[in-house]
Amino acid sequence: MINLETAKNVEKMDIFKKCYGYTEAKEVMEKGLYPYFREIESGQDTEVTIHGKNMLMLGSNSYMGLTNHPEVKQAAIEAIEKYGTGNAGSRFLNGTLDIHSKLEKKLADFLGMESALLYGTGYQTNLGVIGCLVGPKDYIITDKMDHASIFDATRFSFGKTVKFKHNDMADLERVLIKCDENSNHGKLIVVDGVFSMEGDIAKLPEIVKLAKRYNARVMVDDAHGTGVLGPSGRGTPAHFGLEDEVDILVITFSKSFASLGGAVLASEPVIHYLKHHSRSLIFSASMPPAAVQSVSKAIDIVQNEPERIDRLWEITEKMKKGLQDMGFDTGISETPIIPVLIGEMEECFMFWRMLTDDGIFVNPVVPPAVPQGNCLIRTSYMATHTDEQLDRALDAFYRAGKKMGKI
Ligand code: PMP
Repeated sequence: MINLETAKNVEKMDIFKKCYGYTEAKEVMEKGLYPYFREIESGQDTEVTIHGKNMLMLGSNSYMGLTNHPEVKQAAIEAIEKYGTGNAGSRFLNGTLDIHSKLEKKLADFLGMESALLYGTGYQTNLGVIGCLVGPKDYIITDKMDHASIFDATRFSFGKTVKFKHNDMADLERVLIKCDENSNHGKLIVVDGVFSMEGDIAKLPEIVKLAKRYNARVMVDDAHGTGVLGPSGRGTPAHFGLEDEVDILVITFSKSFASLGGAVLASEPVIHYLKHHSRSLIFSASMPPAAVQSVSKAIDIVQNEPERIDRLWEITEKMKKGLQDMGFDTGISETPIIPVLIGEMEECFMFWRMLTDDGIFVNPVVPPAVPQGNCLIRTSYMATHTDEQLDRALDAFYRAGKKMGKI
């Protein structure tokens, strides 16, 4: 017999209720201002095809422009021919290939760290590292603007999370002192090397000094620094000459290295411990062969063609100056991630629409990725953008800026 009262309550408490009542995205779609899940019908490159129309890509993280490089593609094809398409298991059991170990050695040599460990994605790396190393009585100390995967990782760990104001060293020190007030437990400071929306660089020299003073460990998520900053693209720690001072370095292969996957670099005992305790490593399949070999080839190209990094920085200077000279506010960017600050969400979507209609692919960034009222258009650049393409983009920004009264 079904108890009608209980049945009614079940209906009331249905976990799908929020889905049925979710209308926000559809309202934005109806206004023609929906910027997400756009289907690209071509490879990720400086120009892409969407609905048969050519668009100039200023929204990709392929900083080195290697996703369609013939040698990178060839390395992936050869890997598939030799090893097949997938590993059907985790690194822990049946999913470790000789090329996984070779890539780990190559990464450790390239980045000047003792040891490396590959994960399925950068997101999983953060989850697996923070979740594994930070215990119930430890503190995770994060910059307020750290990447979402770091905040998700804090939920995955049993530690206590404390945030400090974005790149504010006095506030970091305040937090470190506070952590020491009531306990003498472990502390891990976690920062993005390059902040993914603002495009500014973590103040690593000061962070490292404070970490030493208050006996904390330092972890840098260098998703947007690797391949871009430092000698030979060795990232944010190398940019500051601090490779030996960073305890844990996390990188991703979905940006400069033109593929998919992630890695953590640290001392040998830490990597050994992660290999035997990190859940997102042990309970998830390993990087497929094509991804491993395309990353390996991408690293060779980045090392052998330093002119790519020089070109990326030349592009960065040109675009930052071009946008600023027109009167746009590009915030605190110091890297090839150049935000154009807009303000309110509706305005930001309208600005995005104008650029889209003008053939420019950019990403609008709205809460929760940025604080309310601080919406922005995020632009990012590839070493392979041409001056003609950049001038076309600047012209489009000028037209949209004038129409919207932003410049
Ligand atoms: N960390 C940062 C700073 C990122 O920007 C991203 C991706 N946007 C990630 C981690 C996650 O990397 P992946 O795409 O490899 O999961």
